[in-house]
Amino acid sequence: MEERDKSSDQPKAPNWAGRVHKWKLARLYESHAKGIVDEDLINDVAYTLLLRCESMLMVEEAHRGRATCPVCSGTVERNMDKQPQLVCNCGWRGYWHDYWMTYKGKHLTAGGLESFCKEFIQRFPSAKNPSEKMLLIDWLVHRFHWEGVGESPGRPGAVCLIGSKSAEEANEFLYALTMGDKTHSHIRQEHSAWRTIRDQQRSKGRARQEAHAQGVAAKRQRQAEKKRRRAEKIKSAHEKDN
Ligand SMILES: [Zn+2]
Repeated sequence: MEERDKSSDQPKAPNWAGRVHKWKLARLYESHAKGIVDEDLINDVAYTLLLRCESMLMVEEAHRGRATCPVCSGTVERNMDKQPQLVCNCGWRGYWHDYWMTYKGKHLTAGGLESFCKEFIQRFPSAKNPSEKMLLIDWLVHRFHWEGVGESPGRPGAVCLIGSKSAEEANEFLYALTMGDKTHSHIRQEHSAWRTIRDQQRSKGRARQEAHAQGVAAKRQRQAEKKRRRAEKIKSAHEKDN
């Protein structure tokens, strides 16, 4: 096996952008609900999401075999050897495994949010004033994976965009976002629609869990009955022998 170059101080992957801090988003919606325009905070959140979307799209491409070079930002095709290596024309090289490890478990795979990340980046330059940026932020954080594709939306995309320990934490946070008299009507509608879908998903989830629990209980009962009959059979065989 080829020895890996541990001494290399070259970056293993691009600097992936982090998610938006919950407190920033909470403060943003609280101030918006009071009619306060915090332009610095709006810009902060908007640019964080912009960079996050760019990172998510890069990871999605890497997953398909086209990684981004951390040195020159060029595209590096992944070969499919046993030890897949990434070799860029600029001289950078690294192992695919190391590259993968830099984003594994960080909710950076775009998946069903890919088209929304692209749309956010595309619409970003047109959102010039704070109100337009606020609406764009709100639109993105309320998206579901694979929304508009197939029969029903998938899981909420919040965990990929909002800093949290779990998907449930991100979803709970979004569910409880502050809305007020001064909240823009589009934002209230977006949030209300999101909560409705989320409630439906929860009900379906609970129904699935109950059905599963009932199935497990029925199986146990069948097994116990089978065991009881077998014991009875053995007992009666013994009685006949005696
Ligand atoms: Zn390069």
